[in-house]
Amino acid sequence: MTDDGSKPKWRRVVVKLSGEALQGDQSHGLDPAVVDKIARDLARAASLGVEVAVVVGGGNFFRGIQGADKGIERARADSIGMLATVMNALALEYAIEKAGQSARVLSAVPMPSLCEPYSRQAALHHLGKQRIVILAGGTGNPFFTTDTGAALRGCELSCDAILKATQVDGVYSADPKYNPDATRYDTLTHDEAIARNLAVMDTAAFALARENKIPIIVFSIRSDGAICDALEGKGTATLVMP
Ligand code: UDP
Repeated sequence: MTDDGSKPKWRRVVVKLSGEALQGDQSHGLDPAVVDKIARDLARAASLGVEVAVVVGGGNFFRGIQGADKGIERARADSIGMLATVMNALALEYAIEKAGQSARVLSAVPMPSLCEPYSRQAALHHLGKQRIVILAGGTGNPFFTTDTGAALRGCELSCDAILKATQVDGVYSADPKYNPDATRYDTLTHDEAIARNLAVMDTAAFALARENKIPIIVFSIRSDGAICDALEGKGTATLVMP
């Protein structure tokens, strides 16, 4: 229970954090103050009794598709992108532990001297011990994104919801950065999000969440305590429901 008496709506969640969320106002890389702020928010979510898995992106360092545009073979470029997610995961793990909460990085791309290899069993074991599980390496395969990784892990770890942290406070009819007439949806179905081509998560991720009837909460990571607010149904967000 929180200070104002509200309770988290979900028992186990997967939070999707893009690399961009960790770079703050910088053009790339990690902003340690922002990483610490997000880590404190995640630690508080865990202290409310929610089992928290986090899938981190890598776009603040490298995206495969951009490497491919510059002439790197796509599968190779995606390998570099997956490594970028591991850097973010390790930084986040350190910050969460510093905030007083136990955390473990599990990577879909095994690198045992840095972190544990991902397995469903290991992830469930750590979640059961109230450790925050940080999932690096996306799906472990090229030609995918960490959004799809988040939907996949959300399904296989039986999460009640996917919390998709973005730079804006929900899903809009168009990109609000470029279109002042864009309107925000309070709720949507997965089918509507796919049919209207609302580019907040990729279609593969939406389709997986739809098939497995997992709600997606789309919210802005910019405010303090944004993750706990989304867990408690506070603040502005779009709820994508079956
Ligand atoms: N990636 C991949 N397979 C996956 C997940 C990610 O190959 O299952 C690579 C891909 O190149 C991607 C990069 O890792 O561009 C970083 O992930 P993403 O673009 O999803 O990061 P975000 O935009 O969330 O920061």
